[in-house]
Amino acid sequence: QPVILWFRRDLRLADQPALTAAVASGAPVIPVYILDDESPKHRKMGGASRWWLHHSLASLNADLQAIGSRLLLLRGKSDAVLGRLAEQTGAKAIHCIRHYEPWWRNAEKAVAKALPEGCQFNCHDGNYLLAPGSVTTGSGGQYKIYTPFMRALWQHMPPHDPVPAPQKLNAPECWPKSESLSDWNLLPTRPDWAGGMKDMWTPGEAAAKARLDAFADKAKYYDEKRNLPSIAGSSFLSPHLHFGEISAAMCWHRTMSAGGSVDVFLKELVWRDYAQNVICQFPEYGGKNARDAFDMMPWRDLDDPSVKADFTAWTKGQTGYPIVDAGMRQLWITGWMHNRVRMIAASFLIKHLLIDWRAGEQWFWDTLVDADYGSNAVNWQWTAGSGVDSNMFVRIMAPLSQSEKFDAAGYIRQWVPELSDLREPYIHDPEEHGARPKTYPRKLIGHKQARERALAAYATTKD
Ligand code: FAD
Repeated sequence: QPVILWFRRDLRLADQPALTAAVASGAPVIPVYILDDESPKHRKMGGASRWWLHHSLASLNADLQAIGSRLLLLRGKSDAVLGRLAEQTGAKAIHCIRHYEPWWRNAEKAVAKALPEGCQFNCHDGNYLLAPGSVTTGSGGQYKIYTPFMRALWQHMPPHDPVPAPQKLNAPECWPKSESLSDWNLLPTRPDWAGGMKDMWTPGEAAAKARLDAFADKAKYYDEKRNLPSIAGSSFLSPHLHFGEISAAMCWHRTMSAGGSVDVFLKELVWRDYAQNVICQFPEYGGKNARDAFDMMPWRDLDDPSVKADFTAWTKGQTGYPIVDAGMRQLWITGWMHNRVRMIAASFLIKHLLIDWRAGEQWFWDTLVDADYGSNAVNWQWTAGSGVDSNMFVRIMAPLSQSEKFDAAGYIRQWVPELSDLREPYIHDPEEHGARPKTYPRKLIGHKQARERALAAYATTKD
């Protein structure tokens, strides 16, 4: 009797506990990926994620073929598809890695009910440093704030030693019929907006490992460089980690083994764990303010055409603030944005344009290759000030001084070519210096005016 190995955001063969368990069973293994757009409802994967998924599945299939297996592709609601597959193959068990997005938690419950008698459902942990929900306070409660969470998690580190990929996977006597990846239409057709993503990324486990190897030797300089958008000082591992092409434990051990002080980097991996712990406690975090006062916030109305126009200008990188525009264009072209610039661009939408953070979260959801329900929501709510652990709303980031402070001239030149001839300091604020080329827009709103408007709006939410 075979076992089914259900892949989701864990598209790797090394350090993959569901795979390890399937191999340990000694049974033939049927690896399957199900394109399930029904369980997540409005949270189905965005365009950039679908592009990534296509290539990652192709890569996983090739890796499986190299060890004598293959990836079965099926579509539909996970519980119905797995129920049918288990019935058809007479599988005695399903192994998968547990996921924490609310729709996956529901789907896991539904799968457990849908399986025929005699087929066991085994969820394993393995996409995070520690199983979300397992780091508890002295009284057994869950942490809400990052720093105490990080300190508590740190006590359990290092994580387990990564398990190498198997050399061989037992195949079933006959393979169930698979759909074809190209029929899933995950790639854009007309227009093909993925050219910049192709140039920057190679999805798949081998490329994830190569990124990690390339970064490990630089990890000791991470603290110095990570905030400078003009320099590639961070790991660029986020989409690989999101799709589970590499495990967090592998990232931890590989960077540690390179030597030097890498704690600042490791603490970023802990942010990723933290975000999952938040969505475990607050499954609606992606759409619901954690602080009730924000429900009273008089956000500008996106049904108003002038507000809609401001939002569109933000999405297209046409706000008149070079650092914001550089970030938004980098996002559109490559599916990724530098972390410091994500904070600046998000803050600009929320505070300068006074637009509800949820509109920005949705845009990122659709355009980021690393779009992650937990990490995206936690960071948007942190920036807005509406989260369980967050920046104060009244601390309003000044995009222009951030641009100078973090030396963003090179970054702006790269992503906003119409400003590429400008010297410093003009490039940070061309309008103020009378250096704005005609092809570059005026600021949507001045910093001082925006600040006053945001503070006045926030003041109305109190009591
Ligand atoms: P590095 O700096 O090299 O960090 C290593 C890894 O740690 C990252 O790959 C990521 O997995 C994790 N990490 C780092 N910073 C954070 C953080 N603040 N929160 C959670 N995990 C973190 N990250 C996502 O993975 N998906 C998202 O959807 C996402 N949305 C964001 C939205 C906003 C408004 C902001 C401000 C940040 C968001 N981030 C998100 C966090 C962060 O910007 C990215 O993880 C980081 O820029 C990815 O680049 P890197 O892999 O080079 O990161």
